[in-house]
Amino acid sequence: MIGTDAKSGALVLFSGGQDSATCLAWALDRYETVETIGFDYGQRHRVELDCREGVREKFARAFPAWAGRLGDDHMIDLSVLGAISDTAMTREIEIEAAANGLPNTFVPGRNLMFMTIAAALAHRRGLRALVGGMCETDFSGYPDCRDDTMKALQVALNLGMQSRFIIETPLMWLDKADTWRLAERLGGPALVELIRVETHTCYLGERGQFNDWGFGCGECPACRLRKRGYEAFLAGEQVTQPV
Ligand code: ZN
Repeated sequence: MIGTDAKSGALVLFSGGQDSATCLAWALDRYETVETIGFDYGQRHRVELDCREGVREKFARAFPAWAGRLGDDHMIDLSVLGAISDTAMTREIEIEAAANGLPNTFVPGRNLMFMTIAAALAHRRGLRALVGGMCETDFSGYPDCRDDTMKALQVALNLGMQSRFIIETPLMWLDKADTWRLAERLGGPALVELIRVETHTCYLGERGQFNDWGFGCGECPACRLRKRGYEAFLAGEQVTQPV
């Protein structure tokens, strides 16, 4: 499906996880030019980043129509973010709820920085759409994944860079079962299988253990969310309970 902005191109925030891989497929289905950007901020689950190139290559191989659209990949060193944050994503500490009610996997400013850097790069590359896997309905409780946060940021970026970026968040109102359904709609069972096997979600970076729903420890919040979503997808149900 080619939208009116197809020629303007898209930059996908691509971490190598299930959500951003689905966003990449979504963008490849809509835009004639799609580039990817990834961020290394010293996250514990760095293994996710190692999955990125494999996912890109396999997308191109399995879907010839997408191969010609997939452009450059950009890896950005954001180690400064890891250096200034004290969270369970960047330190070897237990994952738990913090005193302010947010999970301590929340990295303050992360998505704000990601989108800002992405916009700066997209400005240089002449790409208009910024595509991210932010989602309000997956119970993670991250305030920088909210629709309003992204809409406000779109306004701020456009004012601050005198540009007309559009922040696209195709997963915003989907649950994790819907995300698998979206993948199935975009690329059939082959895409579901590719995302299941090639992407990484586990917060602890566990890559040794392969489960029905993919690699991961099975216990951390990200694994539980992914497992529950995959099971609900297979059962044709919605994910209705927080993990
Ligand atoms: Zn895990």
